Amino acid sequence: MHIALYPGTFDPCTNGHLDIIRRASQQFDQVVVGVLRNSAKTPLFSIEERVNILKEVTGGIPNIVVGSFNGLSVDFAKSCGARVIVRGLRAITDFEYELQMAQTNRVLCPDIDTMFLTTSLEYAYLSSTTVKEVAAYGTDISSFVPPYVAEKMREKLNLQ
Ligand code: ADP
Repeated sequence: MHIALYPGTFDPCTNGHLDIIRRASQQFDQVVVGVLRNSAKTPLFSIEERVNILKEVTGGIPNIVVGSFNGLSVDFAKSCGARVIVRGLRAITDFEYELQMAQTNRVLCPDIDTMFLTTSLEYAYLSSTTVKEVAAYGTDISSFVPPYVAEKMREKLNLQ
């Protein structure tokens, strides 16, 4: 079975993430979406909330498994039986960091390769950070995230 790990913070999952998940699911027998627990970022949503959101929004895709992990992506990939780590690339600004990560991971674990999916044009500008900034002002974020995420965001920010 050809398994891929798609690791990230997903705080929260956006339409851009979902697009990468859908496209990866067409390339692999199984895609494990791994929510990183020990991220340096201070998340808006708890790890359990982010996992639940991802389970809900990927519910219609049969070969997706959602989990969370501590530590290195390569170690989690190994424990899942994944030989590929999938990452999304938006702009050139993503590239330097992603290249460094991929090369570090390759040194740490030569059996695991990183594959990049370039963002679909309609989501190229989207990031979890900007979605949170916009939502904080009570602005409608339904163009950026699945309806379930918009609802959870309203609950989290105590908006109607
Ligand atoms: P991380 O903190 O690991 O960067 P993110 O949740 O921000 O976690 O992103 C996870 C992955 O999804 C990264 O590879 C990121 O580049 C990618 N990604 C984020 N937003 C988009 C988007 N709009 N289109 C394509 N890929 C994206």
